[in-house]
Amino acid sequence: MRRKLVIGNWKMNGSRAGNTALLSGIVAGLNDFGADCAVCVPAPYLAQAQTELEGTAVAWGAQDVSIHASGAYTGEVSAAMLLDFGAQYVLCGHSERRAYHGESSELVAQKVVAALAAGLTPVACFGETLAQREAGETEAVICGQLQAVLDVLTPEQVAKVVLAYEPVWAIGTGKTATPQIAQAAHQFLRARLAQKNAAVAQNVQILYGGSMKPENAKELMAQPDIDGGLIGGAALNPTDFLGIIQAV
Ligand code: 13P
Repeated sequence: MRRKLVIGNWKMNGSRAGNTALLSGIVAGLNDFGADCAVCVPAPYLAQAQTELEGTAVAWGAQDVSIHASGAYTGEVSAAMLLDFGAQYVLCGHSERRAYHGESSELVAQKVVAALAAGLTPVACFGETLAQREAGETEAVICGQLQAVLDVLTPEQVAKVVLAYEPVWAIGTGKTATPQIAQAAHQFLRARLAQKNAAVAQNVQILYGGSMKPENAKELMAQPDIDGGLIGGAALNPTDFLGIIQAV
C-alpha cells in the first residue's frame, strides 16, 4: 500500500516574514490526515525551513540541485548542501527548469543520481506541453523523459525515487487534468516502471501536479495510480494547502 504524499512547490515565492506565517499556519492546522507532507522552498530559505519545521510532521526540500559535488560551478547548489540543511526532497526536472533553463532529460537523470548519492529523495518531474498532447505525443514524451531516468538507475535506486506527472498545460493555468486523463498518464508511467521491475513499480509514489486545489484534490487522489500531489499556487496559502492534504 503506497502512502499518499503532498508536496508544496513554492517556486520563486516567499519572504522571511511570509514564510513564517505560511509554515506556522500549516503546522498548526496539520492533523494526522494520513498523508506525508513537505514543502520545497527556494534555496535561501532552507535554513528557515529547518528552524521552523524541525520536529514537526512537515518535511522540506529544494527545487533544484547541481549534478556536481563541489567546485567551480558558480550559482549551483550541491545535494550535500541541501542535506546540510535537513532537506529530504529535491525536485528534479520541473517543466519550468526544462523550459527556461534548457534542462534535458539526460541532465535531469544526472540530477536524480546526484540527489540519491547524497541520500535525498529526488522528485523527478515529467509532463507534456499542450502542443504535444494535441499532436498525440503525450505517451511518447513522458515515456522518453522517464526512460532517461530509468536508464541510469538500478531497480534499488528507482525504489527511492518519487515521480511527478505535471502536464505543462495544467500548470498555473487553472486547467486541471481530469482525473481520467491524469490516471491514464500515471498508469502508463507505472507500466513503464514495471518493465524495469514489477515489484518496485507497485511501490513508487507518482504525484500529480497542475492546478490541484482543495476542490479537485479528492477525486484526483482517489485514482488508483495517483499517490498525492505536487502543488504550486495552492501551496502558498495554508488553508488551501491543508485542504488538499485533508482531501486525501
Ligand atoms: P500549480 O499548482 O500552480 O498549477 O503548479 C503546479 C506545479 O508546477 C507544481 O510543481
